[in-house]
Amino acid sequence: MSDTSQSPKPALLEVGGLSKTFFARRIFGSSRPVVAVEDVQFAVHRGEAVALVGESGSGKSTIARILLRLEHPDCGRVLLDGQDVLALEPKRASLSYRRRVQMVFQDPFGSLNRTHDVAHHLVRPLLRHGRATKADVDDRAIDLLRTVGLEPAEEFISRRPYELSGGQRQRVAIARALAVDPDLLIADEPTSMLDVSIRMDILTLLTRLKTERRLAMLLITHDLASARYLADRVLVLFRGRIVEGGPTDELVESPAHPYTRALLASIADEGELGTSTDHVDSELEDEQSRGCPFAPRCPDAMDVCWKTDPSYRKLGARRVRCHLYPESGSDPSANADRKE
Ligand code: SF4
Repeated sequence: MSDTSQSPKPALLEVGGLSKTFFARRIFGSSRPVVAVEDVQFAVHRGEAVALVGESGSGKSTIARILLRLEHPDCGRVLLDGQDVLALEPKRASLSYRRRVQMVFQDPFGSLNRTHDVAHHLVRPLLRHGRATKADVDDRAIDLLRTVGLEPAEEFISRRPYELSGGQRQRVAIARALAVDPDLLIADEPTSMLDVSIRMDILTLLTRLKTERRLAMLLITHDLASARYLADRVLVLFRGRIVEGGPTDELVESPAHPYTRALLASIADEGELGTSTDHVDSELEDEQSRGCPFAPRCPDAMDVCWKTDPSYRKLGARRVRCHLYPESGSDPSANADRKE
């Protein structure tokens, strides 16, 4: 685990003890286990954005797929307003849960049907989920376009995806997600395929929606700069586990885990907003079975790091999984979110 939310209010989304292992085939038929997610725990409150930050292979996409019920975990729980999502019957989950939990995808062009106009993409969910009647559905669609900043909305409503820029398509995708009045928005790399010049616009839009609609948001990203802009809390994932988590400002201004420091250094090297951390992963060795998984490239590695996997330690409002910091007794972070 390792989330650090201190809010006394009940969380909208609670994830606990989430683990998932895949089996990768070897050449001669045998397979080896690959841990994608390991004992991940976090919570998201209404009106709050939490960022899961990590490069490809860190487990963030697997977590998103589990939350969308496209993947089933080996163990763990997912609660939405206290309801056990993983225990829901598929049919019930598909309608009610999918209304409450909406996704904005990385590729705004791929997520829109190029043969249909913008109206189609908005009218369909509005009617299907009972958010509008046939009499007022056109007005509701226009309102949605205004909400996401596509003006004049009356012109955009009849355009097809190929008549829109990447940023405009992503705004339509966000409008479509808003059409069903969700409680939680999962944004999977929502700006990574956009021009740098318009990434900030989309992040600003998401920030406004979070505040105005008290939307809970889970930002899935490799880009710590985007997380820094949008998220109230950041959880840094490495090899399927949260290695550091806490309030965004605190984590960014004084990163504790060496891996978080490496991610931040990559921003400093490449400039603000829109940098990739993928290269950090590509240099990592893969065969660290005992001790800390980050030890092979950690500049601070000590003897103990190669022998013992570190537990979580408490650093103010943060939790960090690293031997550099003193153990804090019986891991108070273990129940931090369960108390909410
Ligand atoms: Fe580095 Fe050791 Fe901390 Fe792992 S536990 S991140 S190897 S200092």
